[in-house]
Amino acid sequence: MTEKYRTVLLFGAPGAGKGTQGTMLGSIPGFHHFSTGEMFRNLDPYSDTGKTFREYSVRGELVPDELTVDLWRECMQAQWTLGIYHPFSELLVLDGIPRNVRQTELMAEHVDVLGIVLLQATDQKLMLDRLRGRALKEGRADDAQEAVIKRRLQIFEETTAPLLAEYPCDIVHRVDAIGSPAMVLKRVLEAVTPIQEAAFSNALR
Ligand code: AMP
Repeated sequence: MTEKYRTVLLFGAPGAGKGTQGTMLGSIPGFHHFSTGEMFRNLDPYSDTGKTFREYSVRGELVPDELTVDLWRECMQAQWTLGIYHPFSELLVLDGIPRNVRQTELMAEHVDVLGIVLLQATDQKLMLDRLRGRALKEGRADDAQEAVIKRRLQIFEETTAPLLAEYPCDIVHRVDAIGSPAMVLKRVLEAVTPIQEAAFSNALR
């Protein structure tokens, strides 16, 4: 694609509700949600990439950058070709990528970042409870162990959160992530609806 994907990034620590908000947003016309966590979890666990994913994720570590961005790029291309994602009429909501400076660089030629939604949850205990609940419900190995959760939170604080400084502050929207999913969605929509409308004012509805 010569044009870049018009994109908003969903940022937030593990447990802040990125997946829940991204899924709801993606069900609204004009938005397309893509989660790299889901991309990895959907891999065949016996495939080479599936095995690599498990090796890193059970420790709470990030999958190597080149592999992650290559797979993300292929998936976006495939979703476009298959008519699942419509880059000329849908705002791409990226959840879980980029996670560090290297990924930001590798993705730069493909995405036009129009906004960033930072889901902020000051209540650490609530986030940990959410992760423990998800471990039980979805059987996610990376949510089950305290040490793994801590490592993921540490990577977010040390590597992912500082990425915000790479973007102009007027495109960063801080959203209170405490509240019911519907209430948080209302806040997220207040931030992203104007971006979506401005980006696709000429698109057919
Ligand atoms: P998530 O559902 O976003 O918390 O991702 C679950 C796991 O998938 C992470 O702990 C990583 O092991 C892997 N993962 C997801 N997105 C990325 C990414 N952008 N870069 C590297 N690893 C990732």
